[in-house]
Amino acid sequence: MALPAEIVEEIRQIVGSQGMLGRTELAARDPGVDPHNLGADLLIRPTSTTEVSRVLARCQAARIGVVPQGGRTGLSGGAVTHAGEVILSLERLNRIESLDPISRAAVLGAGVTLTVLARAAAAHGLSPGIDFGGRDSATIGGMISTNAGGVAAFRHGTMRERVLGLEVVLADGSVLTELGRVRKHNEGLAVQQLFIGAEGTLGVITRVSLALIPLEGPFATALVAVPDLDRAVTLCDTLQRSGSVTVAAIEIMSGNHVEATTRTAATGEIKALAASPYVALLEVSAPSGADAQLASVLGTAAEAGVIEDAVIAQTEAQRQFMWHVREDWAVDRERPGGLWYDVSVPLAALPSYLASFSSRLRSHDAGLALFVIGHLADGNVHLTVNAPHPISDRYEEIAALVTADLASLGGSFSAEHGIGLEKKATLQRLAGPVKLDLMRRVKRALDPHGIMNPGKVVPD
Ligand SMILES: Cc1cc2nc3c(=O)[nH]c(=O)nc-3n(C[C@H](O)[C@H](O)[C@H](O)COP(=O)(O)OP(=O)(O)OC[C@H]3O[C@@H](n4cnc5c(N)ncnc54)[C@H](O)[C@@H]3O)c2cc1C
Repeated sequence: MALPAEIVEEIRQIVGSQGMLGRTELAARDPGVDPHNLGADLLIRPTSTTEVSRVLARCQAARIGVVPQGGRTGLSGGAVTHAGEVILSLERLNRIESLDPISRAAVLGAGVTLTVLARAAAAHGLSPGIDFGGRDSATIGGMISTNAGGVAAFRHGTMRERVLGLEVVLADGSVLTELGRVRKHNEGLAVQQLFIGAEGTLGVITRVSLALIPLEGPFATALVAVPDLDRAVTLCDTLQRSGSVTVAAIEIMSGNHVEATTRTAATGEIKALAASPYVALLEVSAPSGADAQLASVLGTAAEAGVIEDAVIAQTEAQRQFMWHVREDWAVDRERPGGLWYDVSVPLAALPSYLASFSSRLRSHDAGLALFVIGHLADGNVHLTVNAPHPISDRYEEIAALVTADLASLGGSFSAEHGIGLEKKATLQRLAGPVKLDLMRRVKRALDPHGIMNPGKVVPD
């Protein structure tokens, strides 16, 4: 379905020719993680909240679907678009308006990327308190909309805990502005919370106010081989209770993931770790001598049989390589068309959950392989299930095995990547009727004509 020419012209009057990209320009753009992200006919790039407001009011009047987009790094299909819809990109709302080092708060446009914010904060000895592999492209607006987590969430919370205030344009063009820069504000219903994790289905976030934390480091970083997940959990607990180091990251990888990401690497001692069932990436800081403190904690863990082997990074290049081992998607390149699941489980139950899921998967289809990476301290693991050939059409079938005992363990089938299109059926299957009804009522109240990111998140 093509967009009516008069609407396109009216939008041009609002954002100007520089503010619009048509099919030809879109064909030349990188669609990001999902190849269907640029399926719409028109991408609009407003430069202000006022322009966003006027565009939304016009689209609501014409009943045209609007899909907000940031860096298109989302992993659940939330930014996918179709012909007849318009993409509303926040890429030109990319200004850091203020950064207050005393109050540790920044006010910025929703299109600022995580890397740009992190650099600006570092200049003041501060950090956004959140980090993950998509940092160079992911925008703050997109991260709030998916309530992103990442490697530091176990200490500093997910985006929900980082947000101090928001400016949001609603479907009818009205603007909610609550850009306070304080953590304590109890001024009636916390309506701005509705937009965190809403994946663009309730409104467009245009500006945000974020809490910052003091910059940490220098870090000591290590890759550590552990014989099983039980002992990885013990290591996680020991490190966090250690008075000698402050833990910045505790990531977990299955040995087969490490094998895939180090296959062409020259560093033999790191490749050797892949023989273990699990490898943890640890990063810590300490008041002095972080390397020596980490070596001491790991030495005690080795004597207690908690770890099998460890390599502590000796140079910045080695530290970066260790992070590359964790963040590289070699597994998906080698076996495209695999399935990703994003679950969290209370840490104490994580080993038994993964053991029973692996066994369910094996008995269901012994031809499927399982790769695990994740944020261990949060009990949040990303499960990649794949085969030598693409299995993209088997998402729901495997999802049933993934989610079988999650609720009874107190876990979640959607830890940090959002619902988008991918997990909509799972949400419909597992959320209770009261929650589903509430979600639909909130959606209808804020977006009565269903123009905001149509078809995403909220089950029909
Ligand atoms: C290599 C890699 C590693 C990752 N690691 C992690 C990780 O460790 N932890 C984690 O939590 N996530 C991770 N992610 C995914 C993460 O959710 C996204 O990177 C990010 O949160 C989305 O930001 P974005 O700007 O790319 O949004 P997009 O992908 O463009 O959009 C995501 C969703 O938000 C909506 N949206 C975007 N901007 C706005 C806005 N301004 N207002 C309203 N709605 C909006 C979109 O409509 C869509 O539904 C990773 C992604 C990659 C590629």
